[in-house]
Amino acid sequence: MIIQENITLADKNWFRTGGKARFYTHPSNEQGMVRAIQFAQKEALPIFVLGDGANILVSDEGFNGLVIKPGLGHIHFDGSFVTAGAGVGMPALIEQCLAQGLSGLEEFSGIPGTVGGSVYINIHYFQFLLSHFLVSARVIQAKSGDILSVDASWFNFGYDDSKLMRGEYYLLDATFKLKQVTPLEAAFARGRSMEIIRHRHQRYPYANTCGSFFRNFHASEVPFEVNGKRICFVAYYLDKIGVKGMLRVGGAVVSHQHANMIVTSPEATSSDVVQLARTMQQLVFDEYGIVPQPECQLLGFKINPFLESAIVGLVAQSNNVQL
Ligand SMILES: Cc1cc2nc3c(=O)[nH]c(=O)nc-3n(C[C@H](O)[C@H](O)[C@H](O)COP(=O)(O)OP(=O)(O)OC[C@H]3O[C@@H](n4cnc5c(N)ncnc54)[C@H](O)[C@@H]3O)c2cc1C
Repeated sequence: MIIQENITLADKNWFRTGGKARFYTHPSNEQGMVRAIQFAQKEALPIFVLGDGANILVSDEGFNGLVIKPGLGHIHFDGSFVTAGAGVGMPALIEQCLAQGLSGLEEFSGIPGTVGGSVYINIHYFQFLLSHFLVSARVIQAKSGDILSVDASWFNFGYDDSKLMRGEYYLLDATFKLKQVTPLEAAFARGRSMEIIRHRHQRYPYANTCGSFFRNFHASEVPFEVNGKRICFVAYYLDKIGVKGMLRVGGAVVSHQHANMIVTSPEATSSDVVQLARTMQQLVFDEYGIVPQPECQLLGFKINPFLESAIVGLVAQSNNVQL
């Protein structure tokens, strides 16, 4: 196992901002994961498991702990089941499944990230959640390094939620049940995948962003109706306020394509992103009395830099802060 010191994280996340990790390792197998956990235990270091960095914001001060980026790149097919290691990129997995005549995961075409990061937050696109396909997985306990085989119910999946978000376990691999299709149906599925990617590229930025910065509201968080409906889309409120392409702090700007996406330019810092996101929260609160909460996960921030939910009775969604 190779443990490196003072490794930059700016080139390992999609915002391209943030400081360094005090320790960094990229284990290629499970033994390496176990040894990395043991090293962190021995040195009393906090751990952060990193995927492709498509949904994180790294503090400019960096992370005074061990960043583990699992290699774990295995893919194994068994009938309509596919098992993929936590380090496998979702785009590559989708491609290989289609090549094997397995359909389903193409609904997530164009979403960057690894299997680990995607199961962690239960990625979603329109009505599809990754948990619709996951049947079982293997996870490693953060404290002991023990490996467990678990089924889908263990994860307590919800919208932007899974048991992995409590930080007690890390994903080693996941098994998905897909639909075996004929070559003709696979060709249609591939066409759908290409169409989703084309549609996404027209509607959303695809670089220097973490995708949606804020998760959508739960219906219970929106105490009013617009034309008889509770609108949960954070982008709706930000769009009404008129931030798209307009609101900027330093090198961070609200995308001109999507009001809930922040895009950075090369001079941006993570502090710019934080200040911009806080301003977006404040604007929505001032206008509507509700506070969007980040979907983006935080690394290296000593306190939650964002405004917490203002509605009485709400659980503030601050469990995505990695100290
Ligand atoms: C352009 C763009 C578009 C996007 N569109 C969508 C979209 O449509 N829908 C959607 O749901 N998301 C979307 N996202 C967000 C992002 O793609 C997903 O959250 C993705 O799953 C992140 O995976 P990652 O490997 O990059 O994880 P990272 O960003 O590296 O990490 C995210 C979190 O996952 C945890 N994690 C990573 N690996 C593991 C592991 N093995 N075990 C335990 N925890 C782990 C990390 O600790 C961190 O807390 C988009 C992002 C971008 C940049």
